[in-house]
Amino acid sequence: MKYCSTCGEKVELIIPEGDNRQRYVCQSCEAIHYQNPNIVTGCIAQRQDKILLCKRAIEPRHGLWTLPAGFMENGESNIEGAARETFEEANARLENMQLYCVFSIAHINQVYIMYLGDLIDGEASPGSESLEVALFDESEIPWQEIAFKVINENLRLYFEDKKKGVFKIHYADISKQSDGSFEVKYY
Ligand code: ZN
Repeated sequence: MKYCSTCGEKVELIIPEGDNRQRYVCQSCEAIHYQNPNIVTGCIAQRQDKILLCKRAIEPRHGLWTLPAGFMENGESNIEGAARETFEEANARLENMQLYCVFSIAHINQVYIMYLGDLIDGEASPGSESLEVALFDESEIPWQEIAFKVINENLRLYFEDKKKGVFKIHYADISKQSDGSFEVKYY
C-alpha cells in the first residue's frame, strides 16, 4: 500500500502508538489501514455419488479444477457467500447446506470455510469464471489437475467421510514448508 484510501496522501509503515505490529498509517489524515486475512467460502455440491467441480477460466491456476468458492463479500453471511459462489461459478443451487471444513492458511492470509450441500435437480453449467463444470465420482476426480492444496485436502476428507457415512466438521492449518511442500495439521 502506497497511498491512503481516505485522503490520497502517502502512507508509511509504522507501529502506531499502543499497537505491536506495523500498520500502514497516513501521514496526512492519520488513518490507520489495518490488513487482515481474507475469508474464502465455498461448497461441495453433491448429487448421488458425485460432486461438482469447476474448471477455472481465470488465473491463478487457469484450466485446473476446483470446488466452487471465492472471497466473501460485505453484507452477506458466510453461508450466503458459499451459495452465491456456487451459483456464479456453476449456475448451481443447493439445499441442505451444512458447515463442513475450515482451513486456516496463514502464509497466504486466507481462511477457507467450506460447506456441504445437495445440488438441486443436478443442474449446473459454467459461469463466467469457469471453462467447464462437471460431476465426478471418486474414481473420476482429476487428482493431478486440482488447482489448490486446500481443495485437494477437502476432497480427500469428503470421500473418506462418505465411506464412513459421517460428515463431521473438520478444522486444519495448512502451511507451506521451506521445500515448497505443504503440511496439513488437524485439530
Ligand atoms: Zn489519509
